[in-house]
Amino acid sequence: MRYFSTRDLRQEWPVTLDAALSAGLAADGGLYVPERRPSVKVADFDGLTTLPAIAERLLAPFFAGSSLVPQLGAICREALDLPCPIVALPPSAEGESYLLELFHGPTAAFKDFAARFLATCLARLRRPDDERKTVLVATSGDTGGAVAAAFHRRPGFRVVILYPDGRVSARQAHQLGAFGDNVHALKIDGNFDDCQRMVKAMLADRHLAARFALTSANSISLGRLLPQMAYYAYAALKLRRESGIGNGESAELPTLIIPTGNLGNALAAILVREMGLPIGDIHFATNANRTLPDFFGGGEYHGRPSVATLANAMDVGDPSNFERLAWLFRERNLRQSGIHAHSVDDATIRRWIAAGESRHGQVYCPHTACAAEVHQRLRDGGARGRMLLVATAHPAKFNDVVEPLVGHPVAPPPALAELLQRPSHSEQLVASKDALVARLEQGW
Ligand SMILES: *Cc1c(COP(=O)(O)O)cnc(C)c1O
Repeated sequence: MRYFSTRDLRQEWPVTLDAALSAGLAADGGLYVPERRPSVKVADFDGLTTLPAIAERLLAPFFAGSSLVPQLGAICREALDLPCPIVALPPSAEGESYLLELFHGPTAAFKDFAARFLATCLARLRRPDDERKTVLVATSGDTGGAVAAAFHRRPGFRVVILYPDGRVSARQAHQLGAFGDNVHALKIDGNFDDCQRMVKAMLADRHLAARFALTSANSISLGRLLPQMAYYAYAALKLRRESGIGNGESAELPTLIIPTGNLGNALAAILVREMGLPIGDIHFATNANRTLPDFFGGGEYHGRPSVATLANAMDVGDPSNFERLAWLFRERNLRQSGIHAHSVDDATIRRWIAAGESRHGQVYCPHTACAAEVHQRLRDGGARGRMLLVATAHPAKFNDVVEPLVGHPVAPPPALAELLQRPSHSEQLVASKDALVARLEQGW
């Protein structure tokens, strides 16, 4: 399989998977996409039940021709051996609803799956005499922790995290500074856009990128998109198998509702549906950042500055992965492709966090609360059939928002609890590329 940039419209500059994984962003500023869309059938997965086994089968065509082919099974087992339970919500007359819990990894958010997979691939692509790579990552809270956990103590890598001072939850901030060793946390005097600008400016500067052996692990990296497809395939197969309908028979397809910001997670679900696995309509649940709802409502695509909300990991005004989505549907009408987008405001997020326990038996994080609201709107609008809501983070990660609304403490899962007990250290830095260069030069 070859990969092209979304901006290389005549497909003149193919790269290998190995090159695409190592580069992150394409040289022309576009995003890497596969040259073709492999097809799969439910029967291709007969006998495969675990996430790593399903991932290995699903991703095999994407790895064709890569030096990692012989290691794909081992990579999936090492990186994706995380629980992803499907939990039933209280039954209703309109149909069954389920929650796909993606927050059982080391940092309690779905980004652990992708960050671990990317780190495992990059570690295996590394040659013994390569110089040490610096993974530079800007984070609005969850990405930085997941990337740090994935590269922590990996020989040949160090991680430098930039996060906006005062704009991540207290637990997120603690977590980012709690790894130590080869992980360095910088709190930036600015917002997330400033952090992202600094990282992009560094990576785009060939001289600096070479001097510090920079690499990126941001959410547009192909190495993060591919593994996210695995849990959607897993969920689609599990729901199909449990429905008792045989392979090849037609069945009603489950509707997916996905908390969405930069559009990486939801794009993976769309790709799995495009490959042929049984997934029905896909709904993006966004917060007050309305770029996607406005587009799917019929407007032009109009990227804009982000607004701060309670669901801070989705505070994105110009979702990077929209470029991949537009490329994927370049010959079809994206607005008539079974994809929808809905905006949920902070007051409604609060209401769903407060009501989640009595109505669904769930304490929701602010992001998952957006999916709960979209689910309710669809049911109220008469939608029937099975629905799968994606739970993107554990509520304990956002205890400062969640606990006052539910009225009791929310215990962090064990891995997060362990991190929160470690001491945490981060350094203040002004929001400028020069300051970052000076800090990297100083070393650790
Ligand atoms: C990153 C994140 C999202 C948004 O995911 P995208 O891939 O950027 O759309 C949603 N919820 C949580 C908890 C996240 O950390």
